[in-house]
This record gives sequence, C-alpha cells and structure tokens, in this order.
Amino acid sequence: MKSLHLKAGRDKSVKRRHPWIFSGAVERVDGEPASGETVLVKSAAGQPVAVAAWSPRSQICARVWSFDCSFVVDRAFFQERISKAVAMRAALPAIRHSNALRLVHGESDGLPGLVVDRYADVLVAQFLSAGAEHWREDILNLLVEISGCESIFERSDAEVRKLEGLEPRVGFARGNKEAKRCPIIEHGLNFRVDVEAGQKTGFFLDQRDNRRRVRSLAEGREVLDAFCYTGGFSIAALAGGAKHVTAVDSSAAAIEIAKENLGANAIDASKIDFQQADVFAYQRLLRDRGESFGLIVLDPPKFAPTAAQVKNAARAYKDINLMAFKLLAPGGLLATFSCSGGVSAELFQSIVAGAASDAGAEAKIIDRFGAAADHPVALGFPEGDYLKGLLVLRS
Ligand code: SAH
Repeated sequence: MKSLHLKAGRDKSVKRRHPWIFSGAVERVDGEPASGETVLVKSAAGQPVAVAAWSPRSQICARVWSFDCSFVVDRAFFQERISKAVAMRAALPAIRHSNALRLVHGESDGLPGLVVDRYADVLVAQFLSAGAEHWREDILNLLVEISGCESIFERSDAEVRKLEGLEPRVGFARGNKEAKRCPIIEHGLNFRVDVEAGQKTGFFLDQRDNRRRVRSLAEGREVLDAFCYTGGFSIAALAGGAKHVTAVDSSAAAIEIAKENLGANAIDASKIDFQQADVFAYQRLLRDRGESFGLIVLDPPKFAPTAAQVKNAARAYKDINLMAFKLLAPGGLLATFSCSGGVSAELFQSIVAGAASDAGAEAKIIDRFGAAADHPVALGFPEGDYLKGLLVLRS
C-alpha cells in the first residue's frame, strides 16, 4: 500500500484517534497516491498508525478510515460501517417519532466526509471529502441496499468540497423521483423538505429534540423565532399553544416553505406573522416599537465555521443576544444557539452572559442544548460537537 509518513512527534493526534491529518504533520508520501486513494499512515519511527484517504489538495491531507491498520478499505468495509450507522439510528427512540433522521454523520460514524440524511423514503447524501468521493459508487449502492430507500438525492454542493478540490454535484444519484419536496413527520408535525435547494440537505435535523423542548415551553407565550428557516421552531411553538409567533428570516425561499409547512398542519395561520428581514435590523425595529416577548428562539447560521472567524462571530452572537434580552419580558425564556465549530460552549456562555449584563437583565441558565442523538460525537473528534445552546430564564 502507498504510505504517508508523519514527522517526528506529530503522531500524537492520530494516536488519540483524531481522524484528520494535516499537511504540516507529513514528512513524505510514498507511491504517488491518487486523490481519495487509501494510504497507510506511519509514525516517524515507521510504525503503522492508521489507514486513511489521501486528499492532495486539502490542508487536511488525509482522513482516517480506521485506526486498526489491519483493515482493508473495500466495499465490505463500507458495508459494515454504513450498516452500523443505520442500526444505531434504528435503535434510537427518535425513530418512533420521526421519519427523518441523520443516518450517517461523517467522522463520528467512522465515515469522514460522508453525510446521509433520510427524509421519509428519500436519502440525501453529501460526499464532502476526496475519500468519500473516491468510494461514491459503492457507497450509493450500499445505501440503497442497507436503507431500503430507492432514491438518493445528492447535495455535494457544500463549500468544503472546494477545499478538497472537488466540483459541486447536485441531483438524483439513484432512483428517478420528481419529488424534490419530501414530506416528513417530526413529533406529529408535518414539514416539507426542499432537498434540491434547501439549506444543507434541506432540514436541520440536529434541532429535533430542541424544537420539541421549545414546544413544551411555549404555552400562552408571545414568541419570537429569529432565523426561522422553514418554520421548525415556529410550528413547534404554535403546536405547543403559543399565543402568537413572529418568525423572521432573510430568505424568501425559506419563508415560502415555512408557509407551506404551516398549511400542512392543523394550526391557525392568524397566529403567526412571517417577516422576511435581517434579524439584526429587525430586532432593533421591535425594540423601537416597544415590543416584548415571553419566548425567544435565536438559531442563527454558523457565524464562525472555523477558529479564524471567531472574533467577528463573537460580536454577532453578542449583538443578537443583547437585543434578545432587551426584547425579553420578565419571566421570559431565551433559547439561544450556536452551531459554530469555532465557538466553544464556554465561549458561547460567556458571550450570552456579557449580552445579559449589557442589557441590564438578570438571567439564569436553566438548561443546555446539544444536537440530537442521530448526530453523535466521536470522543476522538471534538470538532463534531458543534451545536450548543442555552435555555435562559430572565428574572
Ligand atoms: N431554526 C431553523 C434553522 C435556522 S438556519 C430550524 O430549526 O429549521 C439559519 C437561518 O438563518 C437560515 O434560514 C438563513 O436564511 C437565516 N439567516 C442568515 N442570516 C440571516 C440574517 N442576517 N437575518 C435573518 N435571517 C438570516
């Protein structure tokens, strides 16, 4: 097998089972592997430490398939890994409440660069690394075989593909389905998922449990759902008996689907007011009008995908949370999230604390949120722990 040799002292991370090998840690590569080809990773002392997929264009120049060097990476390897991932989901309580689940969560399922979401009988797959791309045909065939879903829509259009030197690819890779809006059910609520043009794979499955929690808190409250996307939290809040919801998003396409989603549920449409607006500006408008809310959900996009953007991201999180505290009535609840990999849970908490203090609000954390269990975090891969949230009560 072609091999990748680490520099002296640079094998600690892989020995702690971290699946990324950065180009700066590599002494030399023997045998000129092709993009995505499997290489044996060796320490400076020549000891084999992992088998990995070679990605010549990326700073993450190899992603580990297995830390057991006796593993042969072939179709059977993917069959085992995908079967395990699917079986883990089949055993989750969530499967009794939703027909939409993440089946494969990349690195944390031992399949770096592969994301697969199931929306009823359609799978949406993302091949985000040279290694996943290399095995694409086998993986697609196995997904059909193992999941029993005949249709796979490919959404390999994430920015990270560029870093791997891969072109975007979008469209049905298996099956011949016209339905690009997949109807799904989450805790008894109906949503349509735009798998073709929606964000990521079309729906934010990682927030499933948190939407349910918000539903349980909403009764009788005036709600602000900031960054509402296709209405996940808004519809959950209305189903939970919210008095009224103001749902804000800058995307007209998202709001259009949110309205469809509302219509797909037995909910009084007069109880929701959709606003296509920039949340930063709209919160100020609400403040100037003297509005106040009993429950605010802040679920912004990833302000800091990597550590380099943390400073600006921190300012943005501070701003929206500060305004939220100003809009929150005494006794009100704030469910505030960050899905930025670059912002740690500690940093996020300190930003929210700073926002409360600047707003002159007395507040306490009464719960913490993370991603649902179909988005596991491998202990060797802390980067997988991207979603964090706080439930804060204003005194
Ligand atoms: N809460 C949603 C997911 C939110 S995703 C759910 O549970 O489904 C983040 C959303 O923020 C996207 O819909 C995006 O269109 C929107 N967005 C990004 N920047 C924005 C801004 N400055 N103002 C308003 N919406 C914004």
